[in-house]
Amino acid sequence: MSAGESARHRVLVVGGGFGGLQAVRKLRGAAVDVTLVDRQNFHLFQPLVYQVATGALSAAEVAAPLRAVLRRQANVRVVLAEVSGFDFERRQVVLDHLANGGRGERLGYDTLVVAGGSRYSYFGHDDWKARAPELKSLAGALDIRNRILTAFEAAEVELDEERRRSWLTFVVVGGGPTGVEMAGQIAELARETLRHDFRQVDTRSARVLLVEIADRILTGFPPSLSHKAERALEKLGVTPLVGHTVVDVGSVSVAIRSASGEVEDVGARTVIWAAGVAASPLAAALASADGSEVDRAGRLSVTANLTLPNRPEVFALGDMVRVVQSDGTIADLPGLAPVAMQEGRYVGRVIRNRLRGRSTEPFRYIDKGNLATIGRSKAVADIKGIRIGGFAAWVTWLLVHLFYLIGFQNRLLVVTRWMFSYVTRGRGARLITESRAETE
Ligand SMILES: Cc1cc2nc3c(=O)[nH]c(=O)nc-3n(C[C@H](O)[C@H](O)[C@H](O)COP(=O)(O)OP(=O)(O)OC[C@H]3O[C@@H](n4cnc5c(N)ncnc54)[C@H](O)[C@@H]3O)c2cc1C
Repeated sequence: MSAGESARHRVLVVGGGFGGLQAVRKLRGAAVDVTLVDRQNFHLFQPLVYQVATGALSAAEVAAPLRAVLRRQANVRVVLAEVSGFDFERRQVVLDHLANGGRGERLGYDTLVVAGGSRYSYFGHDDWKARAPELKSLAGALDIRNRILTAFEAAEVELDEERRRSWLTFVVVGGGPTGVEMAGQIAELARETLRHDFRQVDTRSARVLLVEIADRILTGFPPSLSHKAERALEKLGVTPLVGHTVVDVGSVSVAIRSASGEVEDVGARTVIWAAGVAASPLAAALASADGSEVDRAGRLSVTANLTLPNRPEVFALGDMVRVVQSDGTIADLPGLAPVAMQEGRYVGRVIRNRLRGRSTEPFRYIDKGNLATIGRSKAVADIKGIRIGGFAAWVTWLLVHLFYLIGFQNRLLVVTRWMFSYVTRGRGARLITESRAETE
């Protein structure tokens, strides 16, 4: 594939997510030619994807086409393709699944930036994936939305009491922010949004189980906020099962082991996976090309300048890396959007500095706090040691998410939708776009 012959420095960025996009934007106006390669043609605002999965927002409101986002940045071109390999000797990446069907094409670079993100880990049980989809991609969110809404429809026409109960049982695996948000939203859907829409079934009888292996949910927050969130979830109708582990996911049931070792088979037709994180396979591909290794979560180690240990012209950042600081210790950075964004901006700065022959101080993460929402008017926030819960935290959560959402149009649409939903307790995007009803 022709990179377009250029005398200027060529920067190739893989991944237009939180980290990659910031790196590209930081290079605006620089004397470089940037190529952004992504396998999807949009930037996805993952923190709001769970609202798509529960019909509160539609897909286009949480995603922005990369070409539109970068329209005014003249030194960037966007390529829709999947990166499948790296050739460090020739300074090329290998591209597959190009829009014209092309495979094995190569694209050259002078500086390479890789920000491929992560996915959920099924802890060696990838066979559970088909029954318990992950909330990571837009396609995954739409799949989950279909399943949740179909479950209520199935319960409405189900005459057998036990089967009806299993249609109305939702299991969310993983008590991190995504699992908590998801469980809270399903409970609100069942208890508020849908309660007047069905005739045979009382949607308020739905059970939402939130399974977490640790002894509390939201382990990234201080224990006091975890307990606050647990109580708020219970009020909403969610049953947090802390200290519990999912040990099997069958076609109509889920086996859950309690802390005491007892295993219960819970009849449940809808299971959502939000546990464990594994780095993008691009991390392992980079590590093997560089002669280094990945950790248990598949993350690649990068230097304090976010470069590969043996390749100063190759940067990696975001969810797929862990940073080895100048003193050799590993910075314990969470897999969060602000980390990836700060790393992306930092890499853009390093590249600009290098072109001017300047060095850059090592990367330092500035922790601005941690937020998680539980449901309508409820959230928890830990901002520089200030711990708040309830309405104030929820408003903070809304403002922060609106601020970081890409695109003015999306912000306007989302705020309008939220205001409308707040007043009417409704959800406008409750469409089943594919039939997924399973049969025993
Ligand atoms: C459901 C969910 C909710 C979340 N909520 C929050 C939250 O509330 N707050 C928060 O701070 N963080 C949240 N996160 C975490 C946050 O989204 C990540 O930390 C952040 O996206 C990491 O940025 P990244 O650039 O490393 O990867 P991503 O943003 O995931 O971007 C990776 C990009 O690389 C592309 N890509 C991957 N592989 C290839 C390939 N082979 N070829 C071409 N392109 C490729 C992908 O298409 C994608 O566009 C959430 C994550 C999820 C999944």
